Amino acid sequence: MTDSATESALDSFSQLQLAASLSRAVADLGYESMTPIQAQAIPKVLQGRDVMGAAQTGTGKTAAFSLPLLQRLLKHENASTSPARHPVRALVLLPTRELADQVAQAIKAYAKYTQIRCTVVFGGMDMKPQTLELKRGVEILVATPGRLLDHIEAKNAVLNQVEYVVLDEADRMLDIGFLPDLQRILSFLPKQRTTLLFSATFSPEIKRLASSYLQDPLTIEVARSNATASTVEQHFYSVGDDDKRHALHQILKQRQLKQAFVFVNSKLGCARLARSLEREGLNTTALHGDKSQDERLKALDAFKKGEVDLLVCTDVAARGLDIKDVPAVFNFDIPFNAEDYVHRIGRTGRAGQSGLAVSFVSKSDARLVGDIEKLIKTKIELEAIEFEEDTPDIRKQGRINDGRRMYAQGAGDEGRGFNQGSAPQRGPHRDGQHARAERPDRREDKRFTPSAPSDPLFDRPYEPPALAEAATLPSWEATARPSVRSISANIKPKRRVAALFKSA
Ligand code: AMP
Repeated sequence: MTDSATESALDSFSQLQLAASLSRAVADLGYESMTPIQAQAIPKVLQGRDVMGAAQTGTGKTAAFSLPLLQRLLKHENASTSPARHPVRALVLLPTRELADQVAQAIKAYAKYTQIRCTVVFGGMDMKPQTLELKRGVEILVATPGRLLDHIEAKNAVLNQVEYVVLDEADRMLDIGFLPDLQRILSFLPKQRTTLLFSATFSPEIKRLASSYLQDPLTIEVARSNATASTVEQHFYSVGDDDKRHALHQILKQRQLKQAFVFVNSKLGCARLARSLEREGLNTTALHGDKSQDERLKALDAFKKGEVDLLVCTDVAARGLDIKDVPAVFNFDIPFNAEDYVHRIGRTGRAGQSGLAVSFVSKSDARLVGDIEKLIKTKIELEAIEFEEDTPDIRKQGRINDGRRMYAQGAGDEGRGFNQGSAPQRGPHRDGQHARAERPDRREDKRFTPSAPSDPLFDRPYEPPALAEAATLPSWEATARPSVRSISANIKPKRRVAALFKSA
């Protein structure tokens, strides 16, 4: 079905002979050379090939499909105010509103010196402003599947002139249960078109999707997915569920970390953990799919300004965010999907900076750790953790007086079993059934409040808080230090393992 792309000798945008309007936008963004996925995909998409790309966020894949797509759409560029002169020519589908918003912002930045219009539609927002935009005419439509179907049914979006379709984060779309919606949307499109599919993995389902909808696609895989940066110091600690928060407190203090991401596997676990940590005196905020857009923006802003020290998040929520290079990443839960491990820890240790990735491994995680071991091709050795006197034993101590607040109650109601209820984030995919009322993005969007379409927070990389802000101690430095000594019950003392992943 496919042939593989050979490594291209191209690496500079100037070799592509893009239109001046696009080259100027690329130069404005400060891109000097192409990333591997760009070097391989752009020339082929310019030739009109279907492409199946294994690439995750962070590889530069958005420009890899947007730039050639824009270049090819330039022949339709016009300044007419008539909507009929601006039919939808390219459709970009993504699983979440954050990703849709982020990709639309990127496309707008690449198209800023052209007359090509781009807009984004996703659920949870009033349809009216989106309808107005669609009725004005737009060449590139970025959308989540559920909301797009709403617009198709309302006859706001007419797709019979679509020449390009991009299925971005296709694995996530299938995970969430969007397959019936995707099939339906694709049935509205002209058969004669270019189709591009990007996915973190090429699972059998993805291959099936590709063989149904792509024609003789070129397969491109970029190496990043299995590689962990050598600048990331990785540790796997054997910790029982009840001791994980205690371990987190201790490592934050020992390492004098300023900020960190804490990853969990479920929305429920995310909210619970953030609440518990906040009660224990850590400046924490949660980021998961049930948060409103407004809450997410506030959480991100606070984290970027250094007002929040810990961001507890799920993979899906974190995936759409362009926050990079945090000092440390904790895997409070071991991810169900080994590739998510690579993705999570890729948030730290960027650009030559050293980073720390700590994973808490409980007894039931053996298989998941084995999967990670296979993926990163590095032997993982579990380390024991010895709790020190001056870090709070969360189980025994309960809530902590952090110097700012006094908590009257004892051990928190989430003292046990954080992982309860953890389940892979799968939507209600029911084979072949088109469950309109329960479409995943509608469910997720229930509490979504409208916000300005532009979201500069998603565009800016993480920057450490300003000096004055950074000078203030993170919350774990300020917490009281009750003199409690304990060793986690499931830990064999003194089984210390020194440097891990020397070869990583
Ligand atoms: P993406 O994987 O498309 O989400 O891109 C990840 C980040 O890389 C975004 O912030 C892009 O602006 C940036 N980026 C994309 N291509 C390049 C490039 N050739 N040079 C430098 N940065 C890039």
